[in-house]
Amino acid sequence: MREWRRGSARAAFGVAVDGVETGLGFEVPALLAGEQVRTSSTIASVDPSRPDRLVATSASCTAADADAAVAAAVAATPDWRRRPVQERAAVLFRAADWMRQRRDGLAALQCFEAGKPWDQADGDVGEAIDFCEYYGREALRLASGSATLVQSPPGEANRLTYQGKGVAVVISPWNFPLAIPCGMTVAALVAGNSVILKPAEQTPGVAWRLAEALVAGGVPPGVFQLLPGRGEDVGARLVAHPDVAVIAFTGSKAVGLHINQVASTPQDGQRHLKKVVCELGGKNALIIDADADPDQAVPAAAYSAFGYAGQKCSAASRLIVVDSVYDVVLERLVGCSRELIVGHPATAGVQVGPVIDAEAHERVRGYVERAPTHGRIALQREDVPEEGWFVGPTIVEVEDPQAPVASEEIFGPVLAVLRARDFDHAIELANATDYALTAGLFSRSPVHLERAASELRAGNVYLNRAITGAVVGRQPFGGYGMSGIGSKAGGPDYLLQFSDPRVSTENTLRQGFAPD
Ligand code: NAD
Repeated sequence: MREWRRGSARAAFGVAVDGVETGLGFEVPALLAGEQVRTSSTIASVDPSRPDRLVATSASCTAADADAAVAAAVAATPDWRRRPVQERAAVLFRAADWMRQRRDGLAALQCFEAGKPWDQADGDVGEAIDFCEYYGREALRLASGSATLVQSPPGEANRLTYQGKGVAVVISPWNFPLAIPCGMTVAALVAGNSVILKPAEQTPGVAWRLAEALVAGGVPPGVFQLLPGRGEDVGARLVAHPDVAVIAFTGSKAVGLHINQVASTPQDGQRHLKKVVCELGGKNALIIDADADPDQAVPAAAYSAFGYAGQKCSAASRLIVVDSVYDVVLERLVGCSRELIVGHPATAGVQVGPVIDAEAHERVRGYVERAPTHGRIALQREDVPEEGWFVGPTIVEVEDPQAPVASEEIFGPVLAVLRARDFDHAIELANATDYALTAGLFSRSPVHLERAASELRAGNVYLNRAITGAVVGRQPFGGYGMSGIGSKAGGPDYLLQFSDPRVSTENTLRQGFAPD
């Protein structure tokens, strides 16, 4: 991560912001079989802090484009799959280099297109680079172990190998506009699949930069294709296409469930079961125990809830505080959240930007307006810029854990606070959701920390730290329950989801030999 206390880091990022701002309004074509293609209808991506400002005009692909892309991918797959894994990994390493050299510029674009503050945008770019480096090395590790992963007694040679499944479709959200599409795409590529990426409608400009990185890295035409467009048009066709073998999706629960349903129904001509890797939402709880240090817990809670305006799948949206410290924690949290700097994320120091679009603005404002029906508003910041889709950090005290504000994923800067009688009750409240993505505990009790690690129903449990900010290879990330059916992104099992494992067995006892 950039160290913002260094003047040189701030100055360089400021230059990058100015450079990106000057170039806004660029065009994003589709990348189809190696050709840049413009479409008759287009999608405008705008700056959520200044919706009258165009960031990019992107192609809007159709079902016919999806069919053409799948045909090109089918044709390109056999050669790519046969290439030595070292060659495939090298594409990832070169793409990582390309991004590393343009790191500030890639991040600055996210300030305008995704509403990300400097530190969050820098984190996203760092994660994209990490995914390339990590999955490249993981592919090499899997390939090198092929002879040792299974037993081979004398007279028999067994080999376990992993083969790409075929054509992979990647469908990504806007909130990590570079890291998430990059991670899903490069994992599928290095495992030997060809990939068609359908990025989110809100962030095609950032997705185009990923396409440029992969092309610069040497990905062959047809092996990687970019199809910007609407989910219900081009996305839906890609999901249903009989020649698609694997779908990697990150996004909302509703769309994820729908994709699972469609993918499970075989189409005419389909020769395989489709594999679906699904990373969905969360309603993540952070517990503050009776003996927690409020100086440590409160800023971490505010950061987990309001960093990037609460628009991370890992964000804390429920804070559960044990009764004996409830009042002091709430008072400090309100004070801390009142000080957060809200503004245009391209400005240094801003901590909370806008929500992504008009629809999100209306949805999040709706939760805030209805909150008094179910609880007491402890903080509702109205000192936010008038222009743009801003919602001020909001804290709502709630008694009923099933109240909408405490049980539904809002995906905005709204935090529900619940009072727990004791630690057992806190765990019970935290687990009262179908989601199971992230959770956390601040405590000084080793017994409680141990219990939280084993009893909190979440894919990623954080102890005595913020509950966002997983690092590739250190905190492999992903949930279960209604939060997904994937195996941890940035972890050692991830690539296996894009592979068909195959075993070959040879009888090596003397068979005679053929001289030629
Ligand atoms: P979304 O589900 O609205 O959209 C995600 C993608 O799906 C977009 O590219 C969209 O165009 C596409 N899509 C929509 N309808 C489709 C259809 N019928 N067929 C095929 N594709 C379709 O989600 P979003 O608003 O972009 O992202 C926010 C959501 O993502 C939140 O719920 C958040 O929790 C979740 N998320 C989860 C993780 C994780 O790792 N678990 C990470 C980031 C975001």
